[in-house]
Amino acid sequence: MPVLTAVSALAAGAAVLLCRSRCHSLRSNAQLAKTSGAGNDESQLCEQKRPNIRNAEKDRPASCAFAERVASTAKEAYLLRRPLAHRQTVLASILALRGEELFVISFGVGTKFLDGEAISHRDVVRDLHGEVLARRGFLRFLHEDVLRCLSGEEAELVEHNGEEGCKLRDDVSLHLYTSSVPCGNASWKRWAKGGSTCSHVDPNSPLWPKQMHPQIHFHARAEGQAAFLVKSESKELQAMNKSIGPLPVGTALFQSELGRREQGPLTCSDKVAQWSALGLCDDLLSAAFAASTPRLASCTIGRKFSWPHAARALCCRLQGFHRGQMKELPQGYGLQHLDLFGCSVKLDDGVYEDGAGADFTEHRCLVWTRGDEAAEILDGRTGLVAETGAISRISKLSLTELASKWQEFIPAKAKTELLKSGGRPTEKQRDFSHVMYKTNVRLLEEKDAHGWSLESLVCFPRYILVLLKAR
Ligand SMILES: [Zn+2]
Ligand SMILES: [Zn+2]
Repeated sequence: MPVLTAVSALAAGAAVLLCRSRCHSLRSNAQLAKTSGAGNDESQLCEQKRPNIRNAEKDRPASCAFAERVASTAKEAYLLRRPLAHRQTVLASILALRGEELFVISFGVGTKFLDGEAISHRDVVRDLHGEVLARRGFLRFLHEDVLRCLSGEEAELVEHNGEEGCKLRDDVSLHLYTSSVPCGNASWKRWAKGGSTCSHVDPNSPLWPKQMHPQIHFHARAEGQAAFLVKSESKELQAMNKSIGPLPVGTALFQSELGRREQGPLTCSDKVAQWSALGLCDDLLSAAFAASTPRLASCTIGRKFSWPHAARALCCRLQGFHRGQMKELPQGYGLQHLDLFGCSVKLDDGVYEDGAGADFTEHRCLVWTRGDEAAEILDGRTGLVAETGAISRISKLSLTELASKWQEFIPAKAKTELLKSGGRPTEKQRDFSHVMYKTNVRLLEEKDAHGWSLESLVCFPRYILVLLKAR
């Protein structure tokens, strides 16, 4: 059978070649005919039929050998663990570098999300973009690793941190890979010249080239330069943008916490920016990492990478978010810039015909966590496991169940804090939220219902505060 397939593939290839060369000669004839003023029906027919075949991904340079290693390791895990093949999708992955060993902790594949109604459902996965699925897959691993650590087993990424609970091992760093530029602000190729390199790199850094991010000058805030956006398929919401230029495809302005239910989830650029500012933990895990939350060290991007735009979107936008400028910020929070790289490794090595493009009919998304035999298939229309309708292993509900397993082992001090606050924010955090809340309300009063968001987007949306409160 494989022989037959190979033979038919060869035959098909030969046919394409024949057609191409025939078309080529006919085209030449057509050109000749055109110059001589005569028509040629056969050449026109062939022109119409000739498919415009191009590479699925453009050739592009890699920033460094480390980025290539990250991309190819992520791709390898995906090819090995995927239960189905996608066309034209987004793969994202979180990898760990432990000593010199680089391995995949999780990956996510998908381009779907659910609209507002599902927001309060703890059993439904609302945001099924690759980056978000990869992070949730990572959280699942972290819950399991914290349990290993606190219950006295050997953990893979974390270690004891005395009374503070856990911390990332000193020889471990975390790295994000995404096969295409994250949606939202990073894909907004405005307000900076493109380019694939950072101009300030430490050539002596041993594991990967460490970068120094220059201060951004926000000269176009009112145009949305620092804006937080939401994923949106609603033409009405997308058009609800009176004062700033065309938004990136598939996004709408973040309106506020007040209108959260009607909006889609924040774009992946905004979520990565939050992880840069607050770390990767969810509210449950942050109790186990009281002193230092695990953070991403770098981000490697495949298609459409542009360093200045990625830097703006994924970290530098929040350059004022540190305790030097914001005294109210709780210990351990504040921006940590990401080392940002492009890679030449292509997720899709194939070719396709123009017009085929992304496959929007594909609703199935994938999420895999280290230790799983195969990736879980989720239905992008329901946020549940495809076909069975079961609750996903990465849903809030499932992660809460995992947390309950390690919470009994949590050190006394951290436990007291947890009980004292009863899951509510500490006084300091409440103050901080209050200041920001007042700021938002003031802006809301000053502006009309849809225009007020511009200023609030400049600083930090309430999403960040919600995370802080949960801490
Ligand atoms: Zn996205
Ligand atoms: Zn930065």
